[in-house]
Amino acid sequence: MGVKLAGKPVVEYLREDIKSRVAILGEKNSHPTLLLIRVGEREDDISYERSILKNCELLGIKINVKQLPIDVTMEEVTNVFAEANTDKNVHGIMIFRPLPAQLDVDVICNLIDPAKDIDCMNPINLEKVFEGGSTGFAPCTPKAVIEILKYYEIPLKGANVVVAGRSLVVGKPLAMLLLDENATVSICHSRTKDMPSVTSKADIVVAAIGKAKFMTENYFSQDQIVVDVGINDDGNGKICGDVDYDAVIDKVKAITPALGGVGLITTTILLNHVVQACEKFSGVIE
Ligand code: NAD
Repeated sequence: MGVKLAGKPVVEYLREDIKSRVAILGEKNSHPTLLLIRVGEREDDISYERSILKNCELLGIKINVKQLPIDVTMEEVTNVFAEANTDKNVHGIMIFRPLPAQLDVDVICNLIDPAKDIDCMNPINLEKVFEGGSTGFAPCTPKAVIEILKYYEIPLKGANVVVAGRSLVVGKPLAMLLLDENATVSICHSRTKDMPSVTSKADIVVAAIGKAKFMTENYFSQDQIVVDVGINDDGNGKICGDVDYDAVIDKVKAITPALGGVGLITTTILLNHVVQACEKFSGVIE
């Protein structure tokens, strides 16, 4: 039976580190602060906001929520960003997406100061991920994958890693972060020929294709580590991953669950970015 790689201990480990850094900043009278911008009243946004508020309280991170009406104009949003970008008491900025049609998301992504762009919206931060190194803020989900692999001490240097999925949110930036860890990375996608023959030869397989239980036993082999990023509806109202967990866990060495796996870690990564932004602003780190 393969081992279940749960996200909870990873979150606890990261939280302890964040709390101690927040305390160090507090001694210097610096208080990491997040500005959360919400347009309208989408249920998904409100629920995510609740989770961020709870986590901020737990970690000692200050948070301000700017609520904007659903019919807000581009000019008003532009002004909110201009103010937040220059506000010395705001270290991280995030706006919930998707946005209503009158708002141009591409323009908005470019409005945010890259130094405060904790959710990697600005193309400048994505570009930094592709350049390598860690001077910017990488997207939270790929970062969560790296954290989970590191926490469980899964060697990445020289490892053959297959990433299934090539989206700009998960697959492509994750491939770059893995390269930074000196892994040998292959990317599979919807046009890959005979994907099982590629994935089954890897040391580590990361599934990020957005298809419920798509990857079954034949995609995997013994001794493999599987990270399932997928969060899908299984057709019966339950959440499932891209990997058929029940069929695969007996075949591989270890696997992350769809619920309580990678997704559990992303909010902590986001808040870690707020603390990092504050550390850079206060000169604690370069
Ligand atoms: P996406 O739809 O933007 O991209 C899917 C990618 O998978 C594409 O690059 C496509 O080429 C590839 N693909 C599609 N069908 C394929 C197939 N049959 N074989 C091989 N590759 C195939 O999705 P995304 O935004 O990258 O998200 C992927 C999954 O991760 C989704 O289930 C999403 O819900 C989940 N997700 C989870 C988190 C989290 O916090 N855990 C965050 C973001 C996304």
